[in-house]
Order: sequence, then structure tokens, then C-alpha cells
Amino acid sequence: MPGRAELILDRYKSKPKSRVRNDCATVRCPQLSLCYSLCMSARLLDGLKIREQIFEELKVAARELAATGVRPGLAAVLVGENPASQLYVKSKIAACEQLGLASWLHTPPASVSTEELLKLVRNLNADYEVDGILVQLPLPAQVDTKGILEAVDPAKDVDGFHPVNLGKLVSNRPGLVACTPAGCMELLRRYQIPLEGANAVVLGRSDIVGKPMALLLMHANATVTICHSKTRDLPEVVRRADIVVAAMGKAGYVQPDWIRPGATVIDVGTNKVTDPAEAKRLLRNFPERLEKFRAKGNVLIGDVHPDALQVAGALTPVPGGVGPMTITMLMSNTVKAARWRRVSNPVIAGH
Ligand code: NAP
Repeated sequence: MPGRAELILDRYKSKPKSRVRNDCATVRCPQLSLCYSLCMSARLLDGLKIREQIFEELKVAARELAATGVRPGLAAVLVGENPASQLYVKSKIAACEQLGLASWLHTPPASVSTEELLKLVRNLNADYEVDGILVQLPLPAQVDTKGILEAVDPAKDVDGFHPVNLGKLVSNRPGLVACTPAGCMELLRRYQIPLEGANAVVLGRSDIVGKPMALLLMHANATVTICHSKTRDLPEVVRRADIVVAAMGKAGYVQPDWIRPGATVIDVGTNKVTDPAEAKRLLRNFPERLEKFRAKGNVLIGDVHPDALQVAGALTPVPGGVGPMTITMLMSNTVKAARWRRVSNPVIAGH
């Protein structure tokens, strides 16, 4: 007996090609040929495309600031030699260079003490040229991570992790908002997904994704439900959602039959799957991706099962959806911080 995914796929395979949504043709989707062959229904919310749009806007903003003598700048603090952290920081510095922003890289050793790191953060707080301070996490176990993040001047807290900025978000006042949830909101806004009165379900309640995401959706007048590991009957809660934001860190956990047909799915999860059996189970309807997995030995999978593509009305692909938006919003926050702190002209400062 065929499962639900097969039934859905059969339905879409028999759909005439003329009914494929035009959006499919305009996005640069790694699975585009497959999308066509399956006649998928979900509109892809393309983070790469939106990143390009925002980068163009930021280049203009940076030029305007340069005309007033201000060059926005980001100082990155990378402790130790964690390869993933090195890669993230490298991409952030490269984005600064692409936009004409200044950047500085500080690389204390893995043995650094909390006191030494506090001294570095205080120096960066006092440096007029530095608009944004990014402390790449995770920090080594001996360092008081919360203490370091709280030492960052809230006006330079471009990650939006400082309690002052979180407080501003709670009370819906202008401030620097955590980059990943801010990026999810930009995707929703630029793809004109209606939020007012919508039922939004956020899966995950972390300080950096779930909680700020829920607050942003609430401020946009959605009716928000926050779920976590103790939530009862998760599938039923998700089935009521017009908008699902999945930020749990569990590959393919949210099943296609939990998604209300036509719902918008924002998949924040970035899970590296290396187990061939798991990859086969998750990608059974994506032979091209499975082929790539076999060649590479790993594949990035979101928190939502890839087959949700056939049920959702709109969906962020993994990779290429929320991922590119995080660095984009870091750049946006750096420009914003420079304007707010250094520009007195209210038009340029955006007050
Ligand atoms: P986190 O701090 O580990 O939080 C995970 C949340 O998911 C927790 O609130 C946890 O509930 C909840 N959860 C776990 N299992 C659950 C279950 N079975 N049912 C319901 N809720 C469950 O993770 P995070 O930092 O928020 O990140 C979440 C995901 O987003 C990860 O995959 C991460 O890699 C990804 N991420 C991506 C980007 C990007 O740029 N694309 C940026 C940040 C994070 P409890 O609170 O009850 O434990």
C-alpha cells in the first residue's frame, strides 16, 4: 500500500505541466529539473535571490554613508581553530569586503581566559571605527560565554544577542535583532506572505532563533504558538499552522502530513546527514540529491522532511533558503549600527 508521500507524488506527477507555478521557473533551485518532473506545488522562497537584492541595497547604503565620511565596520572575534567557526567567520569577512565595509579579525588562542576576552571586547567597544562586534560561538568551555556576550556594547551587538536588544525586541522598539530570525522575516516580507491574523507555529524556543522568531511574528500580528521538546501532540499543533518555522536541529523531523496543504514552511534547520540509510529514507523522492550524497558522503537536510515540498504552498529550501539570510542580516545590522551610532542626519540614520 503506498504511503502518503507516494500518493501526493502520484497526484502531482499527473498534474499537467501548464499548472506548474511560474515561480518555479524564476528561482535558481538546485533541484529545478526534478521540481519540473514532479510538478511540485510549493513556491520556493529563495534566500540566495533575496540576499542579492539586499546586498544591492546595502551597497547603496554604504555609499551614502561613505559620502558622510562613515565606513561601517565589523570586528570579528574568532577564538581557537574550530574549522566550522573559521569557515563562518571567513564568509562574514568576505561579505564585508563585497559590500565595501571595513572588517577586522581578532584570533585569540583556544586557551584564552574570560578576562583576556573581556579586555578585547572592551577595546572594541571603545573603538569608534568599529560599528559591529561579532563573537563567533561556541567559545571554549573555560570562557564565560554569557559574560562575554553581555560585555558587548548593545549599540554594536550586531548578532542581537545582548539582553538589552532582546528587551527592545520584547517591547517592539527599534534595536538590533538576531540575524537568523530577522532573515526569516525578510523572506516572508519580500515574498509577501500574509502574516496578519495567520496562525504561526514556531518549533524551537532557543534564545537565538525560536524566541526572537516568535516575537517578530507576534509583532507582525500573527497568532503564535511556540513548541518545544515537551509539547504534546506536535503533529496536530503543526497541522493548524498557516506558517511553520522549524528550528529544532532534527533532520527531516517534521513530516509532510503534518503540514497543512498550502502552508508556508520556513525551515531553519541545517543538519549534516552522513548515515546512508537516513539519507536514503529522507531523499527517496530526490534521486539527484541522493546521487550527490553518494558521491560526497554527506548532505544538508532541514528540520522538515524534504517531501513537504509537495504539500506546502511556499517553502525555504535547505540549502539556499534561510542559510544565506543569516550573514545578509549580519551585514544589514552592521550598516544599521553605523547609521544609528555615527550619523546625526535623521534621513541617512533612518530614524
Ligand atoms: P537549539 O538551541 O538546540 O534549540 C532547539 C530547540 O528545538 C529547543 O527549544 C528544543 O526544545 C526544540 N526541540 C528539540 N527537539 C524537539 C522535539 N522533538 N519537538 C519539539 N521541539 C524540539 O537550536 P537552535 O540554535 O535554535 O537551532 C535550531 C536549528 O537551526 C539547528 O538545526 C541549527 O543548526 C539551525 N540554525 C540555522 C541557522 C542558519 O543560518 N540557517 C542559524 C541558527 C541555527 P527544548 O527547549 O525543550 O529543549
